[in-house]
Amino acid sequence: METQIITINKSEPPAAVLDKLSWAGRIIKRGGLVAFPTETVYGLGGDALNPDAAQKIYAAKGRPSDNPLIVHIAQISSLNKLVSSIPDKAKKLAQAFWPGPLTMIMNKSDIVPLQTTGGLGTVAVRMPSHPVALEFIKQAGGYVAAPSANLSGKPSPTTAKYVIQDMNGRIDMIIAADDSEGVIGLESTIVDMTTDIPAILRPGYITQAMISREIGETDIDVTIFDAASDKAPKAPGMKYRHYAPKGELALVEGEPEKVAAYINRQTQLHKERGEKTGVIATDTLVTKYNADVIKNAGSRNEPLTAANRLYTFLREFDDENVEFIYSEAFKNDGLEQAIMNRLLKAAGHKIIKV
Ligand code: AMP
Ligand code: MG
Repeated sequence: METQIITINKSEPPAAVLDKLSWAGRIIKRGGLVAFPTETVYGLGGDALNPDAAQKIYAAKGRPSDNPLIVHIAQISSLNKLVSSIPDKAKKLAQAFWPGPLTMIMNKSDIVPLQTTGGLGTVAVRMPSHPVALEFIKQAGGYVAAPSANLSGKPSPTTAKYVIQDMNGRIDMIIAADDSEGVIGLESTIVDMTTDIPAILRPGYITQAMISREIGETDIDVTIFDAASDKAPKAPGMKYRHYAPKGELALVEGEPEKVAAYINRQTQLHKERGEKTGVIATDTLVTKYNADVIKNAGSRNEPLTAANRLYTFLREFDDENVEFIYSEAFKNDGLEQAIMNRLLKAAGHKIIKV
């Protein structure tokens, strides 16, 4: 399949942008697939109400079809059509955080095909804030099912370069619009709204504290952090290995000096064996490492920088053939909780305490 790659720049006249996005929208209406930018990561979109489109998404990603898709909408009122009823708490969260990086799970209506929800009676819905995403969804008819636009198992793409690397030749179109403004770089927070006390199934930029401030008590799914938990995760996708670089990743937790010393000892051992080592460091320790490839995740006081860069780092380690990767650990709180969750999954929960 030939993939059209179109670029959208901020400096373009609005009419020209609209022209391109209406073309992209027509592809979705015809049952095709288009990758598009959002403020979290790039999405791989198809018509959420067309069962064949969902099948095509699974095929393009090489993703198991029991892994449900998130339905993206462009206005809050579109929610009515997708769900059987909207809980009051969901209305509050939509008012507070949409458009934005929050996905809510509710009981689905009959028009949402089971192919889109991975066979579940519930549907995940999000209204993104990225202006290109919003206009594209509108042009596509208002309901776009989209997982991240990467091949299954690979880190989610935050730039068009990596969407092209994974999806060129597999889908109809890629919309490239790399504008770093407002970009978060990690997937949305997912909250299950079907229980009296809503539960966070995947942490993200919208934190538990932010949600609780709007609707009171909020749970968090224990399987998010506990690899040893014998419970099945409530968000089916969370059971799959994710975000994994080709190199072997381990997280190192402890006093900063001990973390640096441990990683440097490991680096030395790898060097003696002729192995290439990489490190994900925060800025207070970044000059202390002697690994071959060192990535600066910014300040711990500004975890958004680490969130923005994390998936690019994982991809770059692959590009640079790094065989062993060590990352400083992050806190289990706020936005750092989301960063730590993705790192844990990428590392297969390998964490070294020093
Ligand atoms: P993404 O990987 O960003 O495409 O997000 C999709 C993820 O959302 C899936 O892998 C699931 O973990 C979660 N999800 C989507 N729909 C549902 C649902 N109805 N119930 C529970 N989790 C869901
Ligand atoms: Mg994904």
